[in-house]
Amino acid sequence: MRSVNVGRKFLADYQSIILKDLLAEIKELAAPLEGRRVLHVNATSFGGGVAEILYTLLPLMNDVGLQAEWQVMTAEREFFDVTKSFHNGLQGAPVELTDEVRSVYEDINRRNAAQLTSDYDFVVIHDPQPCAMRTFVADGGREASWIWRCHIDTSTPDQALYDYLLPFIRRYDRAIYTVAGYAPDGLGVPLEVVPPAIDPLAPKNMTLVPDDAHYIVRQFGIDVDRPLLLQVSRFDPWKDPLGVVDAYRAVKQRWPGVQLALIGSMASDDPEGWDYLEKLTAYVGGDPDVFVLSNLDNIGSVEVNAFQSHAAVVMQKSTREGFGLTVSEGLWKARPVVAGDVGGIPLQIEDGVTGFLVDSSAACAQRCLEILDRPEWAHAMARKGKEHVREHFLTPRLLRDYLRIFNGLLAGRA
Ligand code: UDP
Repeated sequence: MRSVNVGRKFLADYQSIILKDLLAEIKELAAPLEGRRVLHVNATSFGGGVAEILYTLLPLMNDVGLQAEWQVMTAEREFFDVTKSFHNGLQGAPVELTDEVRSVYEDINRRNAAQLTSDYDFVVIHDPQPCAMRTFVADGGREASWIWRCHIDTSTPDQALYDYLLPFIRRYDRAIYTVAGYAPDGLGVPLEVVPPAIDPLAPKNMTLVPDDAHYIVRQFGIDVDRPLLLQVSRFDPWKDPLGVVDAYRAVKQRWPGVQLALIGSMASDDPEGWDYLEKLTAYVGGDPDVFVLSNLDNIGSVEVNAFQSHAAVVMQKSTREGFGLTVSEGLWKARPVVAGDVGGIPLQIEDGVTGFLVDSSAACAQRCLEILDRPEWAHAMARKGKEHVREHFLTPRLLRDYLRIFNGLLAGRA
């Protein structure tokens, strides 16, 4: 296991951004938890939504008086091949669950669990990669309350995989899912429903004036005088970047000047990403108005922010999605958003009111055209979307929900 340094953040800085009552509620919930030790464990400190959330949630947990730590599993590539197949399997793809697959999964979980020697009050395990650690942890860890935080839509999983994971999941004291329907029947663990959130003060989301956003996106070859369509996502088939290219091509027939940027980070726990990036590059086929960029091109949080702040349309054309932080990120920047009508996306977008929900490339292209044709109307919609994000999907609300759960677990122990 490897510790991640999460830096410092101060809840007081959010005062002017969030609803007033929330701050008071957080202080009240934090008081009985003063000094309690919390450990979060996941599989990567870079790339993807979970890392994004932990970098912003943990410093705020510390600021309100808890002692929160984050540790990342250490493992070889074959483990991440296995767990990526588990991720896909929990989303419904078939999984080959051989003895070798099981032994890779269990051995790495056992090895990482053996390194958990401190005492914690709460251990939050994120997603399937470290799920079995609770089963293998030495006696010391048994003092803690264990929470399995599943960020994936597991409503129609590969059944054999789910049956295999269920005994590991059942060892937990609580399960947290983004949407109630994501947890299949018979989970056997008390369920909490908590959607994730974005940090409005992180470099990814802080306000950038248009000149600064222009300055940054121009460096990547974008013509700021022509409209830009954008999708920011891991290079993953469920995010449907090929469908985004199809939508862009349809838009280009009527708006020849339109450009497309596909920005994807290469997460260390996502070995499929490299192959998919090659496939995507071949599909784009050298179109000079399509920009496929990643952290390997020096795209970091501020650059993602600049692209999102500048884009004429932010797309998230997923065909399966746990939550889709990029949707809230786009709305928070008051950009018109067109996104797949799947998973946690409808929590964020009310179709035709705060953005658009689509279920095909053709529908996606159609909505993009409407936005390009009527920018004022589309921006009024996006501003409503921003207020919806303010109310429901900013990190202090997520902090409040965790504090509530921790208090509930303490009360249950008394
Ligand atoms: N992200 C990024 N750079 C990229 C691609 C993604 O910073 O090149 C971030 C994105 O801004 C968002 C997170 O990674 O904060 C992706 O979270 P989401 O919930 O959309 O998808 P996940 O990867 O968890 O399935």
